[in-house]
Amino acid sequence: MIYKRSSDLFIEAEQVIPGGVNSPVRAFKAVGGTPIFVKEAKGAYLYDEDGNKLIDYINSWGPMLLGHAFEPVVNAVIDKAKKGTSFGMPTEIETEIAKLAVSMVPNIDKIRFVNSGTEACMSAVRLARGFTGKDKIIKFAGCYHGHSDSFLIQAGSGAVTFGTPNSPGVTEGTAKDTLLARYNDLQNVAELIEANTNEVACIIIEPVAGNMGCIPPLEGFLEGLRGLCDTNDILLIFDEVMTGFRLAKGGAQELFDIKSDIVCFGKVIGGGLPVGAFAARDEIMNYLAPIGPVYQAGTLSGNPLAMAAGLAMLKTIDSDSELFKRLEEKTAYLHNGLSKVLTENNITHTINRVGSMISVHFAEEKVVDFETSAKGNNETFKKFFHGLLKQGIYIAPSAFETWFITDALTYKDLDETIKVVDVVSKNL
Ligand code: PMP
Repeated sequence: MIYKRSSDLFIEAEQVIPGGVNSPVRAFKAVGGTPIFVKEAKGAYLYDEDGNKLIDYINSWGPMLLGHAFEPVVNAVIDKAKKGTSFGMPTEIETEIAKLAVSMVPNIDKIRFVNSGTEACMSAVRLARGFTGKDKIIKFAGCYHGHSDSFLIQAGSGAVTFGTPNSPGVTEGTAKDTLLARYNDLQNVAELIEANTNEVACIIIEPVAGNMGCIPPLEGFLEGLRGLCDTNDILLIFDEVMTGFRLAKGGAQELFDIKSDIVCFGKVIGGGLPVGAFAARDEIMNYLAPIGPVYQAGTLSGNPLAMAAGLAMLKTIDSDSELFKRLEEKTAYLHNGLSKVLTENNITHTINRVGSMISVHFAEEKVVDFETSAKGNNETFKKFFHGLLKQGIYIAPSAFETWFITDALTYKDLDETIKVVDVVSKNL
């Protein structure tokens, strides 16, 4: 496939946008080459500016659970747009989507909508600090919770892809309040809590990590965190920006049957429009302005177009009782197929998967935390990535990312993908 026009557009973009992109991972820096400029997308496919058709395994980094340009979402947005695009006043649809989200997700009474996953996580931590009266937070190396200051400490995703997990610009004062733990290491968390008695407000975690590739929680890990939080008056925040409405209707809380105190959403909840949200039981949410002392606000929060897209998305998910089964089956099929051809071609690999989140690590050891993820062979990944791209298969341009499977993928698409991986593996 030829990507000439994409290359030209990238050069033009670089003149006026830092690195030519509005979010770093898009730039292909980790894998080399120039990014693909997309023209349009439908279902499981992207159509780029050179006229190529690609099978999409990124799906806007998660939101397109049901495929691109999903009709109920598109129609809802068009209808709303005709009636005005922003009012900065309450609208009925905000209550409608809030009610639906609260009914789908366990352990939450109220939800507040914001404009991104970053905002959701940032606000959740402020709320946890305000509620507990404590300052420190525990996060896990390799987890990504957006680009707000407190989280750019050993962060995953683009932050680690670009070698800046600790970003300049984050003050020492802020950094010292973020304590860093190893994912899947309960003992490590217990030690941090003990060394900071009565100072830890919350533990924030991706209940299935997706920003160091996909890493599932080991048996007992999330339960252990819940126990540590309960005994030490610490709030447990599940960052479900990736997992929410993807792993189950009620997200990871439902899948693993673990209660979190605050839950953060993004991606799927907005159906592809800029939406994030955070939610908790009444006691905690009532700490928020205007009824409580913790301030949080947004000119465009609850935006009618965004709410219309999110509502159409959640309604579809809520009413399709077979959706998560289908996603699980499709992803398991891909998992088995990839595993088979990589093994047949003697490629050292580990595949991690939970529901419709999956990633291929070119690593020998089991990948359970950031350290084991970082041991993956990046040179092999680069060749793998470009091999797939040449054949029209689009995966994330970094080994520290997850593939997001959409319901729009057919078994024919999956077979084609497995076939391409087989061919590419022969040259790795
Ligand atoms: N939390 C998680 C788990 C994420 O994966 C992301 C984005 N990839 C964020 C938070 C930040 O979301 P956003 O990019 O919408 O700010």
